[in-house]
Amino acid sequence: MGYTILIKNGRVIDPDTKRDGICDLLLKDGLIEACEKEIKIAPDRVIDAAGCYVMPGFIDMHVHLRDPGLTQKEDINSGARAAAAGGFTTIVAMPNTKPVIDAADRVDYVINKAHNAPVHVLQAGAVTKGQKGEELSDIAGMKEHGIPAISEDGKSVMNAQLCKEALKIAAELDIPFLDHCEDANLVNGGCVNEDAYSEKEGILGIGNEVEDVIIARDIMLANAAGAHLHLCHCSTYGSYKMLKRAKSIGMDVSGEVCPHHFTLTSADRIPGDTNYKMNPPLRTEEDRAALIKGLQEDVFEVIATDHAPHTRQDKAGTLKEAAFGIVGLETAAALTISELVEPGILTPMQMAEKMSGNPARILHLENRGSLAPGKEADVVIVDPEAEYVIDPKKFASKGKNTPFGGRKVKGVIMYTICSGQVVYEKRD
Ligand SMILES: [Zn+2]
Ligand SMILES: [Zn+2]
Repeated sequence: MGYTILIKNGRVIDPDTKRDGICDLLLKDGLIEACEKEIKIAPDRVIDAAGCYVMPGFIDMHVHLRDPGLTQKEDINSGARAAAAGGFTTIVAMPNTKPVIDAADRVDYVINKAHNAPVHVLQAGAVTKGQKGEELSDIAGMKEHGIPAISEDGKSVMNAQLCKEALKIAAELDIPFLDHCEDANLVNGGCVNEDAYSEKEGILGIGNEVEDVIIARDIMLANAAGAHLHLCHCSTYGSYKMLKRAKSIGMDVSGEVCPHHFTLTSADRIPGDTNYKMNPPLRTEEDRAALIKGLQEDVFEVIATDHAPHTRQDKAGTLKEAAFGIVGLETAAALTISELVEPGILTPMQMAEKMSGNPARILHLENRGSLAPGKEADVVIVDPEAEYVIDPKKFASKGKNTPFGGRKVKGVIMYTICSGQVVYEKRD
């Protein structure tokens, strides 16, 4: 008889079986053992989840762990602890580290270092060597060493022919291409959304077309190559329209939205505050409304954070000088509940789909994103009614760069369980 945890009285929400109701969940030896109305056994540990959602552990398809090479910002262990605190049991690290993760031995470095991390850490492989956009990396070799996806995140592969070749390889290997859409020429030094606010402050803006032209191009290229294209951090009205259209004609595409993009607009920016600087930028209310509509309609099937930790120094200086990006792992669930579930825009089931079930499906993680017997015992228990004020000082992440400090939200992570072990537990 192995180690058992019995989670009692919670509202079990499983995007795989579509079960949504009060029941008991039994975990045994790192796997889901049973999910029934009343389980009567004497487990090693009982967790009372009354009033809480019990969901499969969240899966973040888009994080930056800064390891190797930039560990003053974050490292694999601190990032994984931040993930556990945020209810995530699987995270996918982007390859724009120093050096870039563009070869099998570099994938091994991350996987070996993540061995003792509290959550599952997966590594995406870079599309081109050194992310220079000149020559493809050894995508097949990295696949053999465990990458679930490729991505050039931080930029687009601007050479369309090279991008198409990479998409063909992704199709052959049956892995998704996670696409950061940004035309390197059009961006032209912009650092916030191009609108009346950027004009008033006299700073260069990033127009929607910077993102939209690459989305349009890459949907066409992926379709020609037969690959699955996943659009990262969609921020524009155009991304909603194009993804909806592409899906309606049967193209193999998916898309994610980050909590900051469905919560804030450029009107919320405090002039000069670099914690409102990220890429893509906070857009207009029209864009935000389209993202929310797209989430509701399941045009966007994933919520991902684009967790981008930086040191205080990296975020110092003017808007132009400061680094792009904000942390997101420890605020995502509360923002999703406060902004989308509480107002009735998303059902709790849709939240579980977008934060776990759909990422598992897109990344082909067959034993995750589910609470069915036999699956990995990755579980999050979240109290959707509990309120708190976000305090970056309490983050497990090394990065404290967030515009959400001081914001009152609902949705507290009570427990995170990874492979049947409690890896995070709320303490007051
Ligand atoms: Zn990106
Ligand atoms: Zn990113």
